[in-house]
Formats: sequence, C-alpha cells, structure tokens
Amino acid sequence: MTSKTNNKPNNKIEPLPIREILQTLEQEYPQTETDLHYSNPFELLLAVILSAQTTDKQVNKITQKLFPKIKGPHDILNMGALRLENEIKKCGLYRRKSRHIMETSRLLCDKFGGVVPQTRKELMTLPGVGRKTANVVLSTGFGLPAFAVDTHVRRVSRRLGLSRGKNDLAVEKDVCRLVPKELWRATHRRLISHGRKFCRARNPLCKSCPLNPFCPSAGKITA
Ligand code: SF4
Repeated sequence: MTSKTNNKPNNKIEPLPIREILQTLEQEYPQTETDLHYSNPFELLLAVILSAQTTDKQVNKITQKLFPKIKGPHDILNMGALRLENEIKKCGLYRRKSRHIMETSRLLCDKFGGVVPQTRKELMTLPGVGRKTANVVLSTGFGLPAFAVDTHVRRVSRRLGLSRGKNDLAVEKDVCRLVPKELWRATHRRLISHGRKFCRARNPLCKSCPLNPFCPSAGKITA
C-alpha cells in the first residue's frame, strides 16, 4: 500500500548555499572599490548624488573638474546655483541635481558644522539623499556596516534567492540577515558587478555564469 505521504510532491526547501555564493562572488570580483572618484565623504556624497541615471565614468569626468574648485559645502554655496549647473550640465537631470547639491550644502553648513553626518537618519534629511545613497556613504565613505540596494543588487539578490522582498528595504533586510556584516559593503559591490557582467536585466548569461550551480533562477529568465 502506498502511503499518502509518498504521493506528495517533495516540498522540502533546500538550504541556501550562501557560503558558496559569497565565495564565488569573491573569486569572480576581488576588487570591491567604487568606480566613483573621491577623496573625502563630502566628495563621495556629491558623486553619488550625481550618479543617479548617469554612468560613473561620466560622473568622474565632471567631478575631475569640479572637485579641485571646492573643499567643502561652503564652496558650493559660494559657487552659486548657476555656476554649479554649468559645472554639472553634462550629467543627466543636472538642474534637479544642482538644486539638491545646493540645498544639501546649505543644510550641512547650517546643521552639521559643514561636515557629512555619519548616521543614516541624519544623512536622509539631506535633499537628494535616499536610503541607498545614505548606505553607500556610510559603507564606502565611513567604513560603517550598511548595505545599499540599487537596481542590480535588487535583481540579482532576488534571482539568487537571497530575498523575495518586493522593495529595496525588504531586500536590504533579507540580505543583511544572510551575509556577515563585514561583507555587506563588498557584497553590494560584487552584486552590482555581477548584475552588469552576467545577470543582466534582459537575457542574463546563465550558461556562462559562475553562480549557475547555486542559482534557483538559472536558465529560467525568459525576458
Ligand atoms: S545563473 Fe542566471 S539568473 Fe542566476 S545569477 Fe547567474 S545570470 Fe543570474
């Protein structure tokens, strides 16, 4: 006689091979520095604000000329909105970004003594600074534990089964639960690199992807 249990489909959830995923990412992407050029947290903050919908390469071209002219937020205020717009006009959405940078510089001078704050809560009071930007500044600029989720990180994390989160905050929380704190910054960079190289939004390169053996989505992405 066949028992009911034997006829049931196998619904056992396989444990997530998180160690293998992290090791493979480390082997594939040993370099985890940001591509943005900066020499202090204020420059990083500006570079990240400028990078929305613009390539890092283009941001670097702009900041290469802008940064030697400024030492801190006071210099941005002295520069004024029109000159700043002119400096960053080769950047997408430059008018909005210029406004955010001006307002952020004013707040930094008025409320934070001209320095970039080191808490997410304070950073997120600055115009143009959302949770992702705040997390990048905390982790990259200050070496604090924070995990930033952008479009690549969200897509790759979900495909790898690291998260089923429907929004960036849910993905951030899921990945932070799985990945040791000391690897948050590096994992953020590695997931971005992986999203650009193999796990593209359309037609991901699953056949040649080094994470294929550990990925529940391998070969299943049709669009
Ligand atoms: S196997 Fe495919 S879906 Fe999975 S991480 Fe690699 S490229 Fe992305």
